[in-house]
Amino acid sequence: MNYDVIICGSGIAGIYTALNISSDLKIAIITNDKLESCNTYLAQGGITTVRGKEDRESFIEDTLYAGGNENNLETVKLIAEEADKNIKKLVSMGVPFNRDDDGNLLYTREAAHSKRRILYSNDQTGKHIFLTLAEKMKRRNNITTYSEVEILDLLISNEKAVGVIGTNEKNEILEFLGDKVVLATGGIGGLFKNSTNRRNLKGIGIALSKKHGVEISNVGAIQFHPTAFYDPQSERRFLISESLRGEGAELKDLEGNRFVDELLPRDVVAASIEAKKKEIGSPYVYLDATKLKVDFLKVRFKGIYENLLEKGYDLAKDMIPVTTSQHYFMGGITVDMDGKTSLDGLYACGEIAFTGLHGRNRLASNSLLEGLVFGNRVADHINKTIIKNRVFKEEFSCDESKLEIGNYKDIEKIKEENRRLVIDEILKVREDLKDELSVNR
Ligand SMILES: Cc1cc2nc3c(=O)[nH]c(=O)nc-3n(C[C@H](O)[C@H](O)[C@H](O)COP(=O)(O)OP(=O)(O)OC[C@H]3O[C@@H](n4cnc5c(N)ncnc54)[C@H](O)[C@@H]3O)c2cc1C
Repeated sequence: MNYDVIICGSGIAGIYTALNISSDLKIAIITNDKLESCNTYLAQGGITTVRGKEDRESFIEDTLYAGGNENNLETVKLIAEEADKNIKKLVSMGVPFNRDDDGNLLYTREAAHSKRRILYSNDQTGKHIFLTLAEKMKRRNNITTYSEVEILDLLISNEKAVGVIGTNEKNEILEFLGDKVVLATGGIGGLFKNSTNRRNLKGIGIALSKKHGVEISNVGAIQFHPTAFYDPQSERRFLISESLRGEGAELKDLEGNRFVDELLPRDVVAASIEAKKKEIGSPYVYLDATKLKVDFLKVRFKGIYENLLEKGYDLAKDMIPVTTSQHYFMGGITVDMDGKTSLDGLYACGEIAFTGLHGRNRLASNSLLEGLVFGNRVADHINKTIIKNRVFKEEFSCDESKLEIGNYKDIEKIKEENRRLVIDEILKVREDLKDELSVNR
């Protein structure tokens, strides 16, 4: 199948990129599950903004503080400069962010932010952003979506990415060809025993990069969220948003004593919870939101409130057992300021890309913003450099024999190889995660 641009992934990064690509280009968006089966849909707390020029320095300071100054300053500055135009675009698309009675946008606060600058849609921000973007996408007749098609490999010809190989639910092999390929395949949580992430996210971008010598960075930089609901039975850990702590919920030991400043950076709070668990010999600690007003909790944290009620806990009355859980991947495919990878024709954006924004520890709610800013930059670069209607069959001789389609017959073996490639790469630098990475799944 011939397109101008092939985008792998239907989260904020993939769809926002597609929406910013010129509407006279033919785009394919491929996703290995339903369109909404992405981490974007799950995002609770919100999306960071930078509130005008006067907030830029403060945003930069907060991001560097959370990231332990291991961030790439050029990227942090770029995000600070370009946040506003992309957030305005998102707002103008109609995302139903919370507003006061006069229609002014409301802002919340999360760990390590020195001020309120996070836009939110109650506690289901990601769902509302996704639904708004997906609705816009459906109205574009230059974008074709392929759901439940799993990417297995990259197609490369003359040292240039020219497409991808995927497989559908009937185990058929599908070939997508295009002048530009964008990997927006999200995180790696599906490889972990305990993760807040969707299970279908297994770091395919890293596997493909390893296979084809595309540069990757910082694969050991993996963020554990401090407060996932403690439930050893569930496959995916239910997240309890940081903004709940931002609004005043407290972390307590089993005796009800506070043991940490809840608004310190995520890695510090997570380490403190792990230390406390060890000290008291418990697999969880408590999150206490009981001093917040019940009416406020029921509206502002509707999703969390109702979900916990189903699990037998009333957020307004009960102490909630919480523990740390794999949450976010700060490493990824190395990209430049246009989202270009080390392979010609190949771009990466969103959680799978390494831009250097986050350093050692991501500042809360910076991920959705990074997806927007870099999605926009990738699209801009594609618009400027694409060769429209390129016919690959002729130009790159991508016939069956050249592509060795036969190599893709054993689909399960390829999937397993891809999974192993990512796990091995992480374990090279993070042996401590051996038990967490579900090697035998
Ligand atoms: C519970 C939770 C809450 C969060 N809350 C916030 C928040 O409040 N604010 C914030 O900024 N960030 C938050 N995050 C992080 C943020 O949601 C993600 O980092 C961000 O949504 C990533 O966007 P993305 O477009 O890169 O990837 P995703 O939205 O995860 O999309 C990845 C896409 O890639 C596709 N894909 C993966 N592998 C393959 C394959 N082999 N073949 C084909 N397709 C494939 C998937 O199907 C999916 O469509 C949260 C994350 C979680 C899990």
